[in-house]
Amino acid sequence: DSDRLIAAQRRPEDVDAALRPKALDEFIGQQAARENLRVFIAAARARGEALDHVLFFGPPGLGKTTLAQIVAREMGVGFRATSGPVIAKSGDLAALLTNLEDGDVLFIDEIHRLAPAVEEVLYPAMEDRALDLMIGEGPSARSVRIDLPRFTLVGATTRQGLLTTPLRDRFGIPVRLAFYSIAELEQVVRRAAGLLGLAIAEDGAREIARRSRGTPRIAGRLLRRVRDFADVAGVATVDAASADRALTRLEVDALGLDAMDRRYLTMIADIYQGGPVGVETLAAGLSEPRDTIEEVIEPYLIQIGLVARTARGRCLNGRAWTHLGLPPPATAGQ
Ligand code: ADP
Repeated sequence: DSDRLIAAQRRPEDVDAALRPKALDEFIGQQAARENLRVFIAAARARGEALDHVLFFGPPGLGKTTLAQIVAREMGVGFRATSGPVIAKSGDLAALLTNLEDGDVLFIDEIHRLAPAVEEVLYPAMEDRALDLMIGEGPSARSVRIDLPRFTLVGATTRQGLLTTPLRDRFGIPVRLAFYSIAELEQVVRRAAGLLGLAIAEDGAREIARRSRGTPRIAGRLLRRVRDFADVAGVATVDAASADRALTRLEVDALGLDAMDRRYLTMIADIYQGGPVGVETLAAGLSEPRDTIEEVIEPYLIQIGLVARTARGRCLNGRAWTHLGLPPPATAGQ
């Protein structure tokens, strides 16, 4: 769906890489997470140990990959990256693990999507730095244990609850990433504008920040599109008005919601009178996977109070009706 600005998270762009902060000090927001990581990294370094395994969880685009790379850099070790769905067989993971250098960070994005047989290889690897291999087949098959180099597994997932309990329990450092405040996103926009060599006024940065869905990746993407419009229109310095013109053309509304968010809200309003409606029903109606709805669309809509997740399904709050410009039905709350 080309309307979906965030969809590109599945195919990370080089442009993302260009804007990535390279050190903890450069990383904006997530203060508690940053300060804890700083302590754990300093302690591991002082003891000459590998950092304990880290799990980053939170919606797409909040900086999980970026932080994984920063962890490796601050530890002064190598960085290897892969993702759950890419590792098809347990042998693939075994090959990755045996090729690590001492102390390396192994980053597994979408770690909740590892096949169960692959995941089982991780347990002894994380716990005992060992790999249990089966040699031979049939009655003569036997298992041999080989030692692995010291390493830090950094996993990323949208929700901690998506992991199986045995996998979740093996991460010593779970880190939850939250949506960014507007002030933090303003800093993200100003920093990115600096890197892109784009002049931006304070109110211009604020306008983009307000409409970035709490997400630095979206802030970076919107900034690049605003720059395109500014370049073509011959705007020297991006201000709130020129940012607004560009964002409106991109169908990013005043709350930062995009076309997909509005389809979701409109469906609950028009067809289900504001809910409650089950997520499976919405997924079918919108032709979107349930995962996308739960992991990408809903977290922000819930965060800003437009939608409530109840035991009986999703419901629109009063604010959602106002935002859609529709009168709430008499039975709706608020
Ligand atoms: P995730 O892995 O959670 O999907 P990424 O780490 O790929 O997110 O971040 C997406 C984009 O947002 C990258 O371009 C990165 O530069 C930018 N970004 C993320 N967090 C921050 C931050 N705290 N400060 C500045 N830029 C950030």
